[in-house]
Amino acid sequence: MIEGILEAHMTLGDITIARVVEMEGPMMRPEDLLPAATPEMLDLHRPWLEPHYLSPSNILIMSIQSFVVRTSQRTILVDTCVGNDKQRSNPSWTNLQLPYLRDLKAAGFSPEDIDVVLCTHMHLDHVGWNTKLKDGRWVPTFPNARYLFTQVEWDFWKERPPVQSYNHPCIDDSVLPVIDSGQADLVKTDESIDGSAWLEFAPGHTPGHVTLHLESDESEAVLAGDIFHHPLQVAEPQLRTEYLDIDPEAAEATRIDVLNRSTDEEVLILGSHFANPSGGWIRTEDRSRRFIPA
Ligand SMILES: [Zn+2]
Repeated sequence: MIEGILEAHMTLGDITIARVVEMEGPMMRPEDLLPAATPEMLDLHRPWLEPHYLSPSNILIMSIQSFVVRTSQRTILVDTCVGNDKQRSNPSWTNLQLPYLRDLKAAGFSPEDIDVVLCTHMHLDHVGWNTKLKDGRWVPTFPNARYLFTQVEWDFWKERPPVQSYNHPCIDDSVLPVIDSGQADLVKTDESIDGSAWLEFAPGHTPGHVTLHLESDESEAVLAGDIFHHPLQVAEPQLRTEYLDIDPEAAEATRIDVLNRSTDEEVLILGSHFANPSGGWIRTEDRSRRFIPA
């Protein structure tokens, strides 16, 4: 597992997108992430999945990362990984002590520079760095930021629903302190951030999940959050991450909708868990969709 890799910034007209990686490497067996994936399917797609997204020993290469989007008006941090000092049930994610803020700095941003934090949804690997531990209390990591959460997402998690109870601790240590601080805005699922960046409703993975759409000089990008967990789902969108999705059927419908609107179009797609290169285009080749790294 490699930690804290920094990639060159991607550009989209006058927008830049930087990647800040908390963790990256061979992470999950296909049968654990995508139970319906077959060995034949992996062999079929191996030529374009290797070497970036599939290891020689058939482990899915994945990433936990943030994107920092700089438009002409705002610096937007999208998704905030697992975070340091958080106590989690997953042994690889508990009590992390990783140099995320150092790597953010190396990408050109101090916490004070962030104007907007957008959490595409409230799963524990997307809200962690919202807060940091200071004098035994969780305080917002980004002092000048407005934190955007969708109202729908908050309405779901604030009730501490019986599903995915392992996700509840992150609501207490990484969402609630931000709301209590007054820095949160509970927004509509189609909220506009500025003229070139807006949210789009993409429900299923969670009830209030959104993507971030960017447009500049007729170039378009979609920060797809967890619509996809791995590029294999671009070619095989029927593969569900059943146990991760609150509504797997709706998640599949959303995935197919985004694919239908992006295939063979000039739309850069960035997957929250896509390893480097995390951005690419969706192209039809050999009568099947593929993710072609940018
Ligand atoms: Zn995730």
